[in-house]
Amino acid sequence: MSNKLRPERFDDLIGQDDIINNLKISVKSAITRGDVLSHCLFYGGAGLGKTTLARALANELDVPIQIANGASLTTNKDVLPYLMKVERGSIFFIDEIHRVNKKVQEYLLTVIEDFRLDIVIPASKNSEGETVSIDIPKFCFVGATTEMGDLVQPFLDRFKLKHFIHQYTVEELRLLLDINAKKMNINISEDAMKVVAKVSRGTPRIANNFLEWLRDYKVANNLQGLHKTEATQALQMQGIDENGLNPIDRKYLKFLEKLPKGTAIGVNTLCSALSLDRQTIENKIEPYLIQQGYIGRTPKGRVLMAREKVS
Ligand code: ADP
Repeated sequence: MSNKLRPERFDDLIGQDDIINNLKISVKSAITRGDVLSHCLFYGGAGLGKTTLARALANELDVPIQIANGASLTTNKDVLPYLMKVERGSIFFIDEIHRVNKKVQEYLLTVIEDFRLDIVIPASKNSEGETVSIDIPKFCFVGATTEMGDLVQPFLDRFKLKHFIHQYTVEELRLLLDINAKKMNINISEDAMKVVAKVSRGTPRIANNFLEWLRDYKVANNLQGLHKTEATQALQMQGIDENGLNPIDRKYLKFLEKLPKGTAIGVNTLCSALSLDRQTIENKIEPYLIQQGYIGRTPKGRVLMAREKVS
């Protein structure tokens, strides 16, 4: 379903006006000059619209797009099928580009700079091994990442256009829900949409997921419409409170709350206390709690900041 909700063109996208205005200039210039768009990097949290922007970019340029995931590019061989298929001006998009193996990142450096592929032909009985170079068409390389710091600097430098995708305001998400509720043919009231927008953590993917859940809730309960009360009940069923906290967030906060005021706690202790791995704690749970002022990260560990906010 979420693919159907994905906007296709720049003007269909909600928010990110500054980025879109910048990209419109870059696109127009590339088209007018008959040149290929410079390599482009989108960075920002999951679900904020990096893939959506890359696809819209391809539509605006009217070029084909190939999509790969960084996690699946572990050797040079894995990128070759994509590189053999690039056309002049087309987009090769790598999502989660920070997960591309570092050696592959280095290999891609020459490729995206000189549009040349160096292919190693291993030695055999009859011939010595050699490296052959082939020129490939000039293409536009687009990367998306949530962890820009994990990219090697020379690789990062190759992206002339870098855009930080920021979180959406509650009003922008309300507008998104309004448009998507119509696309999904769901009768949902204005105040119900406001409730959903508020708990969606500034993220379109989360807002869309909640909207689908509300649709299911409405259908399963045979409701005519969805108002604030029903929306709140549906979200509560998923453990989401009015501040957008989920059961794991609350478990995390409750744990800190039990400690004497101002106690700093290390991540390993949290992993054991919550039975969660470090990555989940650091990348999935803490960013929102920090942004919302619930916790702070100090050199000694995590500290509960807003005791009164924990319900
Ligand atoms: P990311 O690649 O950053 O993880 P996606 O591009 O996959 O995020 O976006 C997740 C979903 O959110 C998409 O399917 C799309 O429907 C929606 N979305 C993202 N950005 C926007 C936007 N600016 N306007 C409208 N919908 C959006």
